[in-house]
Amino acid sequence: MNPPLQQDATLLTRWNALAARIDQATEAAGRPQGSVRLLAVSKTFDAQAVAQVHANGQQAFGENYIQEGVQKIAELKHLRANLEWHCIGPVQSNKTRQVAEWFDWVQTIDRLKVAQRLNDQRPEGLPALNVCIQVNVDRGLNKSGVAVEQAHELAHEVLAMPRLRLRGLMCIPDPVDGFELQCERFERAHAIYRQWQTLADTVDTLSMGMSGDLEAAVASGSTMVRVGSALFGSRAAA
Ligand SMILES: *Cc1c(COP(=O)(O)O)cnc(C)c1O
Repeated sequence: MNPPLQQDATLLTRWNALAARIDQATEAAGRPQGSVRLLAVSKTFDAQAVAQVHANGQQAFGENYIQEGVQKIAELKHLRANLEWHCIGPVQSNKTRQVAEWFDWVQTIDRLKVAQRLNDQRPEGLPALNVCIQVNVDRGLNKSGVAVEQAHELAHEVLAMPRLRLRGLMCIPDPVDGFELQCERFERAHAIYRQWQTLADTVDTLSMGMSGDLEAAVASGSTMVRVGSALFGSRAAA
């Protein structure tokens, strides 16, 4: 029984350190404590690791690969009521049904067709699916996310869909060195987020910041940081 106990201690230590790091960034930004949520990104780590982090008090978990996520959600069915599952990976049209049926949130909506399918496929017995629109704030050429110019139109379209609840926007800027440069991209997302907050009072989430740049994200108004490796450890190369 020693190895699992040791692993639990490591995860607890990292989770506490991460919570302190987020609190510190929040304070440095002059923002109220508790205004930044942690999404624990559990991709490539097993259901056991999720259960251990959940036992420390963590509720929200993010998965990139839909199949892998669905498997974990099923495996942890006994904890379902206390877990909040976020899909944070690309969603192809042929995967929307699984996302609509299994997840609580999807943060990667970047086109109308996917939004429409999710709206149509969200089961009646479940609350509306929480969604963030992924915006390509640094105009990376081959990357997901709707272009800044088209983001507002998509937000309005999502707002009209009864089985989706627009919560805000998500972005993954390419990694850059330096706090100022990191903030510059995050501020672009923040400006769009502020506009969307005037559209609907469901809009309360600006999902940005990861293990390497969460301080800049929090300084720029992030309300949800998505952290994997700083919590679960480094991932095996894909
Ligand atoms: C993997 C991933 C994360 C977490 O990245 P880390 O650098 O491990 O913290 C956050 N967001 C998305 C969309 C990811 O794919």
